[in-house]
Amino acid sequence: MSDWKSDIEIAQECEMLPIEEVAHRAGIDWATCEPYGRYKAKVDIHSYKDVPMKGKLILVTAINPTPAGEGKTTTSVGLHDALCRIGKSSMLALREPSLGPVFGVKGGAAGGGYAQVVPMEDINLHFTGDFHAIGAANNLIAAMLDNHIKQGNALDIDPKKVIWRRCVDMNDRQLRNVVDGLGGPGDGVAREDGFDITVASEVMAVFCLATDLADLNVRLGRMVVAYSRSGKPVTVSDIKAEGACTALLKDAIKPNLVQTLENNPAFVHGGPFANIAHGCNSVQATTTALKMADYVVTEAGFGADLGAEKFLDIKCRYAGIQPSAVVIVATVRALKYNGGVAKADLGTENLEALEAGLPNLLQHVGNIQDVYGLPAVVAINAFPTDTPAELELVQAKCKELGVNAVLAEHWAKGGEGAVALAEEVVSACEQPSDFRFSYDVEDSIEAKIEAIATKIYHADGVDYTANAKKQLAQLNELGFDKLPICVAKTQYSFTDDQTKLGAPRDFRITVRNLKISAGAGFIVALTGEIMTMPGLPKRPAAERIDVTPEGKIVGLF
Ligand code: ADP
Ligand code: MG
Repeated sequence: MSDWKSDIEIAQECEMLPIEEVAHRAGIDWATCEPYGRYKAKVDIHSYKDVPMKGKLILVTAINPTPAGEGKTTTSVGLHDALCRIGKSSMLALREPSLGPVFGVKGGAAGGGYAQVVPMEDINLHFTGDFHAIGAANNLIAAMLDNHIKQGNALDIDPKKVIWRRCVDMNDRQLRNVVDGLGGPGDGVAREDGFDITVASEVMAVFCLATDLADLNVRLGRMVVAYSRSGKPVTVSDIKAEGACTALLKDAIKPNLVQTLENNPAFVHGGPFANIAHGCNSVQATTTALKMADYVVTEAGFGADLGAEKFLDIKCRYAGIQPSAVVIVATVRALKYNGGVAKADLGTENLEALEAGLPNLLQHVGNIQDVYGLPAVVAINAFPTDTPAELELVQAKCKELGVNAVLAEHWAKGGEGAVALAEEVVSACEQPSDFRFSYDVEDSIEAKIEAIATKIYHADGVDYTANAKKQLAQLNELGFDKLPICVAKTQYSFTDDQTKLGAPRDFRITVRNLKISAGAGFIVALTGEIMTMPGLPKRPAAERIDVTPEGKIVGLF
């Protein structure tokens, strides 16, 4: 492994094209671009308002992962570069990384090896300031809400029922629960409060689902921030904050254009959590890309049971789009993990465990094909630790089972390593598809959750805690029942228990909490405690990051 260069070393060796040339390559009129420095630009969405979408959408998802991630972003970049390499007009739409994981455990999220988007340091750090703008919008709402309470509280907001939290784009567990508003009569109203990481703010989810500025304004206004003493929801428009928030986001909403290591164009825009939110880049970036290119590659967070499900049932439903093909990323290490191998032993050859993990992959493939009616291609993302026997076994088994699987070596070789994958994906896009959602949005909340649990997770059914039943009744009463569902669940298992790997049977899902994200337009069904403000590990990645006297960033990975 030590022979391999780090992601940042590879990224810094890249000869980037000026962003104007990248725009030209993408067929984007430079007059519609606003450059942010030499290698980033925002694209004005208004200029594309009346342009029809022409591209075929390719969703990249994965099997249930190991804690290290299986390379969805890396594979998305590699596939896009490979499509360009075989002469296709292709565009890429990815999420922007959050600072929390960059400084925490996971490190950067701009791809890896020879399949990355650049400038990698910028994309992983402040980039074009979108996340700061989203944080500011979130915190403006918080400030106006507490000010309303302080200044006479005309809406009769119950300070004990404020649900809006402040946010910061940092893993800072110290801020998870705080008491604020302390001081004298001239200061705030004291209450218990807390911070979420910016990517967990509903503003982020709204930002990513908004179809234009007007829709952004309406969605922001709809967000529920508190309840009155009589139990009535208080929204952002009740405190008159949506206009100012939209003003804060007016430039952020424009997709960010960057390039891959192979100088192909890419959008990196928006990045909501994949548990309490839907976990994919902005609708703006995806739909604008679909207007520009014949093929658009995009990624959904976590495994296909969460990421693809939400991409298809929430994002596609709201944006009026649908993929032509779905790529399911599988790795030898994740298959072994699903076959029962401990995290520390994943680097050791283990053919038995590898085979034992295959049912996990098969179930994801089956879901995409049978539940959603879409063509699926498996990308075996080759790692340097995989042995030839392991790679051969996965390919042979997939072939035997009729799964369309392709070995992909983009991490080591760039787009060239994913040409076979690109060719397979192009032919999958030509296959007839019969896309359908996994549930009807007009069904009851229980019926929708039941559909996801039984069809996608293969559970026997769904149980509700007493608390969740109370919330269910309240959501029905408030008329919030005709919305899609956003399940917050562990990403490691089809079940709500992260220790149950593979393709488990004979289990039920327990819904513990139901929350409304009225602006985003979905009901969040929580099956466990979900951390919306992560903490840092004992040795944060930040300890290794530094800057040379010449201003070159080192240690970011
Ligand atoms: P995901 O999007 O599924 O979370 P990423 O693409 O971000 O996964 O990859 C997770 C990590 O694994 C990154 O650090 C990336 O560099 C590394 N990685 C991805 N694919 C490979 C590979 N084929 N070989 C070695 N490392 C890889
Ligand atoms: Mg990713």
